[in-house]
Amino acid sequence: MADHDLMDIKVYGDPVLRTPTAPVEEIDDQLRALIPAMVRTMREKDGVGLAANQIGVLRRIIVVAEGEKLYILINPEIVSWSARTLVDSEGCLSLPGLQAEVERAAKIVVRGMDEQGRQVELVARGLLARIFQHEIDHLNGVLFIDRMKEGSLQWIRRREGQEEVDYVSTDLPEVRRTFRQRYHAGRTDLVFDGQATEVRKMA
Ligand code: ZN
Repeated sequence: MADHDLMDIKVYGDPVLRTPTAPVEEIDDQLRALIPAMVRTMREKDGVGLAANQIGVLRRIIVVAEGEKLYILINPEIVSWSARTLVDSEGCLSLPGLQAEVERAAKIVVRGMDEQGRQVELVARGLLARIFQHEIDHLNGVLFIDRMKEGSLQWIRRREGQEEVDYVSTDLPEVRRTFRQRYHAGRTDLVFDGQATEVRKMA
């Protein structure tokens, strides 16, 4: 794998993560090149999903991996949600080292296009349903921290020479501070709240 095929993942605070993406109108060569690069980037970072705006492309494209199985969806849309929900912990490549409990529909039906432009519809359950909901949220500028259970946000810290990770409770102000210092030092054009308040109001 050539390094130049890997793309930088935008991290919390970058305004592209809070910008709703636009539908793909045409599947052209640029898009055909973008999708494999997204897949490589996701796999390289050990992710199970990636939305195009996480690499700075404001188009409605997601890639999702479930073991060896790969889903590529253009203009994905959730057309139905089960009433039954599941709570589980979630993380995000754009919020490295963080996780929180998020309640999601246990089963969804997703529609979209594959990279050949064919209409696809699929039923996803459990973890796969969770990943699709998380990635489609990204396309709308929504992050898992907007939906997390109150008080469930944690840093995952690995200590030198120790196998197990530590889970350290945190809150959004500390997360914002850490991201400003660690990932965005010196930048002043970042959006740390975005739609978060609005999403909460709608819920
Ligand atoms: Zn994410």
